[in-house]
Amino acid sequence: MEFIHETQPMRVVLRSGASVTAVAGEAELLGLRRLLVVCGPRGTEPARAVADSLGDTCVGLHAEARMHVPVEVADRAVEAARAAGADGCVAVGGGSAIGLGKAIALRTGLPLIAVPTTYSGSEMTPVWGLTEHGVKRTGRDPSVLPRSVVYDPDLTLSLPVALSVTSGINGVAHAAEALYAPDGTPLVSLMAEEGVRAMAGVLPTLADDPEDLDARGRALYGAWLCGAALGATTMGLHHKLCHVLGGTFGLPHAETHTVVLPYALAFNAPAAPEAIEALGRALDTDDAPYALWELSGRLGAPRSLAELGLKEGDLALAAAQTTGQAYANPRDVTVEGVLGVLKSAYEGDRPSRTP
Ligand code: NAD
Repeated sequence: MEFIHETQPMRVVLRSGASVTAVAGEAELLGLRRLLVVCGPRGTEPARAVADSLGDTCVGLHAEARMHVPVEVADRAVEAARAAGADGCVAVGGGSAIGLGKAIALRTGLPLIAVPTTYSGSEMTPVWGLTEHGVKRTGRDPSVLPRSVVYDPDLTLSLPVALSVTSGINGVAHAAEALYAPDGTPLVSLMAEEGVRAMAGVLPTLADDPEDLDARGRALYGAWLCGAALGATTMGLHHKLCHVLGGTFGLPHAETHTVVLPYALAFNAPAAPEAIEALGRALDTDDAPYALWELSGRLGAPRSLAELGLKEGDLALAAAQTTGQAYANPRDVTVEGVLGVLKSAYEGDRPSRTP
């Protein structure tokens, strides 16, 4: 056995009500006295409640976060942080709001506190993204890793069932690819397997009763572990495919992950037996790709790229873009192989392993 494991320097609080009872304390621990709160333009109540809980240490609320962090949105947020004399930033929301907080941290070096409201896991990673002229650039920088993450199940009660399911499977996708990542470690694999077990196990309960606070807490626990696995490793074919489908074809983030994951895993399965076995343990099955396809379909998630609006004529370009650059993946990525994955995902058929 050989590995290098690096622990991310970060505090994590998970508690009902923590968004209004714990953020001020986290800021104090970090020595921050002038915080800019950022969020998206819709559903700003949780961010306002966080801002109120900060009292005089909140110097502004900036509600302009947008999907994939357009560069002009980042510019305006950096300007707002500078104009307010902020010494730190609190991002309240899903990956889009946290992405904007990361963009501020990247440009200004201001420390970031994240208060996630979805299961997408961005809060646990040092990965930033910025979109300019329709092209999304991503990179890793330790300065964008939130110093503190405050998970409050209360904030996720409003997450619609459909988005809870697809966002949850988005989390599972991080853990699944971490299990076969070239830089995985035994500890990352434990986190990933337990993250999948927690998230996949709780999604049916959430779909049944979205107001079940215990279930919401367990989903955030799963999101934390899956996000931590994402933050620690390099992702493969599945994430590359979703990046292309979102970036070039504008497909929605969480839904695309949900549709593609079973097929990407079925493709990689022959080359990643240990990862598939770990997923099988977490999902209590001997066919993990099928189990994920069955679960998300049963919970009403979209099953095909056609449903998400992709055109059959787009598949060849998507395959070409996915194979354009080399990246880590357990199985060789060929245009023919990726086209096979995309065609199956386009149709939404039951996933089957390809030799
Ligand atoms: P999102 O942040 O775009 O939110 C999706 C929608 O859900 C928005 O309309 C938002 O207003 C709404 N919403 C969020 N929380 C809610 C709640 N609790 N109740 C009701 N509505 C709520 O979606 P996301 O999937 O969390 O994030 C996607 C973005 O994050 C993408 O740009 C993706 O690339 C990025 N991302 C980055 C990383 C990383 O490590 N850098 C990891 C995962 C995702």
